[in-house]
Amino acid sequence: MKVLKFGGTSVGTVDSIKQVISILEDNLAQGERIAVVFSAMGGVTNRLIEIGRMAAAGNGEYLDLMKAVEERHFTTIRGLIGVKSQSSTFATVKGLVNELEDLLRGVYLIRELTPRTLDLIMSFGERLSTTIITEALKHRGVAAEYCDARLMVRTNAYFGMAEVDFATTDRLILEHFAKSSALQCITGFVSSTADGITTTLGRGGSDYTASIFGAALDAEVIEIWTDVDGMMTADPRKVPNAFTIPSISYAEAMELSHFGAKVIYPPSLQPAFAKNIPLKVLNTFNRDFEGTLVSRTANSKDYAYAITGISSIDDTAMVNVQGSGMIGVAGISARLFTALSVNNISVILISQASSEHSICFTIDPRNSDRAREVLEKEFEAEIATGDIDSISIEKNVSIVAIVGEGMKKSTGVSGKLFSVLGKNGINVIATAQGSSELNISVVISKNDLSKALNAIHGVFFQSETRSLNLFIVGVGLIGSTLLKQLCDQEKYLRTEKLLIVNVIGLSNTRRMLLYPEGVSLKDWRDQLAEQGVKTSLPAFVQRIKELNLPNSVFVDCTSDKDIVRYYETLLDASISVVTPNKVANSGRYDEYLRLQRTALQRGVKFLYETNVGAGLPIINTIQGLMASGDKFLKIEAIVSGTLSYIFNNFKSGVRFVDVVRDAKAKGYTEPDPRDDLSGTDVARKILILSREVGVPLEPEDVSVAQLLPDNCLKAPSVEAFFAELEASNEYFEGLLASAQAKGEVLRYIATLEDGEAKVELRTVGPQHPFYTLSGSDNIVSFTTERYKDRPLVVKGPGAGAEVTASGVFADIMSISSYLG
Ligand code: ADP
Ligand code: ASP
Ligand code: MG
Repeated sequence: MKVLKFGGTSVGTVDSIKQVISILEDNLAQGERIAVVFSAMGGVTNRLIEIGRMAAAGNGEYLDLMKAVEERHFTTIRGLIGVKSQSSTFATVKGLVNELEDLLRGVYLIRELTPRTLDLIMSFGERLSTTIITEALKHRGVAAEYCDARLMVRTNAYFGMAEVDFATTDRLILEHFAKSSALQCITGFVSSTADGITTTLGRGGSDYTASIFGAALDAEVIEIWTDVDGMMTADPRKVPNAFTIPSISYAEAMELSHFGAKVIYPPSLQPAFAKNIPLKVLNTFNRDFEGTLVSRTANSKDYAYAITGISSIDDTAMVNVQGSGMIGVAGISARLFTALSVNNISVILISQASSEHSICFTIDPRNSDRAREVLEKEFEAEIATGDIDSISIEKNVSIVAIVGEGMKKSTGVSGKLFSVLGKNGINVIATAQGSSELNISVVISKNDLSKALNAIHGVFFQSETRSLNLFIVGVGLIGSTLLKQLCDQEKYLRTEKLLIVNVIGLSNTRRMLLYPEGVSLKDWRDQLAEQGVKTSLPAFVQRIKELNLPNSVFVDCTSDKDIVRYYETLLDASISVVTPNKVANSGRYDEYLRLQRTALQRGVKFLYETNVGAGLPIINTIQGLMASGDKFLKIEAIVSGTLSYIFNNFKSGVRFVDVVRDAKAKGYTEPDPRDDLSGTDVARKILILSREVGVPLEPEDVSVAQLLPDNCLKAPSVEAFFAELEASNEYFEGLLASAQAKGEVLRYIATLEDGEAKVELRTVGPQHPFYTLSGSDNIVSFTTERYKDRPLVVKGPGAGAEVTASGVFADIMSISSYLG
């Protein structure tokens, strides 16, 4: 004997019922002895509850909703049964509908909906669906018989979640099955008391019906047919990467379903477990798939994960009872939980601080007002004396539980859990570990639920592949080069680094695009043009926060000063920031510090290697040396490609003005070369380097020696500037000559020494590392306690879209290894 159960989604439409019938016929054709349990058509139970409540509230519109329910069932009859044979089914269904309408009319008149009446109203869902499917089977020639479970499943009168009297139930089932050999089509979910009053087994209870019948009949298997591929590593509606668990123990399945995996109703496991009957969870819409086997043994050997699955209870309330008078006082928790249990408030999870200063636990949020009343009454005296100072209740919290028998064997599971939550900035409000070591649960804010589930799933089940979610602002030269590099490297990152980089958001000054599925790295231009909307930076940032994706990185590829204002709120929302934009780090020191601190507190990264020397490892080198305890004695730097080029090429026989013209022609300078020659950009860079080595300078602390004579600075236009530069030729020749007289060369150098930063034109001799510089290279030399005799020098091209983008790329990559 096999008991099959088809849930609401499996019997929700004509087409799906056809699938169900075909599965049943296949079983019969193979000579299987089967019995089958049906749920109400998907959504009908909820609808009936709503209709009942409307009627009780005196809202006459319940009739319209009722009409729609009736029509849905009639349509189903028409779709399943030929016209000639429909009438008797219509008559039976109409009879049931009339009975329900009379009942609702009664509720409407007396304006009262008791739990007992609600159970009776809900029972029509299963009675209607099962009637129709039984008739459809008969119509196809199957010897099927409608079986009202209320005649057999005997319960107490605890309406809404009645408790089964197994001895009587088992006997009644066996008696019934002894009488008939036809295929029994059983109404799920419904039951009755000894007096014949209708009760129900709790929401999702059709699974329980199947298990009750399976156990009574000693079935060899109970098959739960639903709309997903079995029990999965997480709810596939919340975690798209979830996959099927091939086999699982009763205990694990119980734990997962208790913590929210509604694919099996938790009490259903008990009767099957007691008789050691395996349960299979199968997909009506993918019937050849093996699904999940629930049995005594945990998952098979080839299931190589430390945990079996993750589930969540989305809506809970957390109650916290605390007070200094609770410490060491025996019996407080006993009184507390007794008071709750006497009042039928069930506790989902308990966590007590070891100081005994507080006890916190979670309950169904619908019970929170009652819980407060009950506890305030129970501890009235303690509250009056101040021994207990408060009973606080926090709503909008969720519980996430990781479950698995494998946890007993492997260490570090909880470490991994808390670390991934921490790295994603998810605050753990409370935690509990079952003493069976079968589950670890955390209470978190409901806002973080989806992020938490996906991030936890990522580390436990896809630990090989990590993913980053990027939001890129600025798709000019650097941004678009970065996108091209990401596109070119996509396959390499995926296969060699097991890293998937999704670009979720893109924005330029005109348009922005947020696309949670990931923007195409090839066609982003078209996508942005076609699907983008008018740019609004606040909206863009707000949306990034709302999406609350794990491993989010905001990439600012602009030099804009407005965007920088959002860094702090982004970091605060646990979103890493990567940028070549210098504005944030070269403003006021306290702002710089605040960003650093926020990143640290939130466990995310703020990276800006490209602020100085583009892709050259300058800031990373400093941070590495600082971390290892080295002390900086001096930094010297040529960190302007333009000024590097100009002085590397200003030699005897060449006029200074011609070198500057040449640099401009080559595109090395700003449109007005004075923007480079003024030294302000260099000053900002040395300011940033100073802060990195722990010298807290403000912008005005950096002294910049003027390179240009006054007449050049004051020239009203770029052309006039060049003319003045030419006129000042002698001045520059003089500088060059005096350098050459010493056997030295001119270099425009930023220096940090003894806590002071300055930028100036200097001469350096052949022994200095900057003497041989060429092209437009940048160079930075670090003299530290460890690199004292010969400084540590970093040198190379320090400007250009390719190298800057690759520096940004490297920063992004370093975030991925940090997350790993
Ligand atoms: P039925 O109508 O067949 O009884 P339910 O809606 O009660 O179906 O349960 C199936 C649903 O359970 C799935 O659609 C899925 O969204 C949800 N679910 C939650 N957690 C899990 C999980 N771990 N594995 C599979 N499904 C899950
Ligand atoms: N129809 C009931 C419900 O929706 C029982 C079930 O579907 O298992 O809760
Ligand atoms: Mg269900």
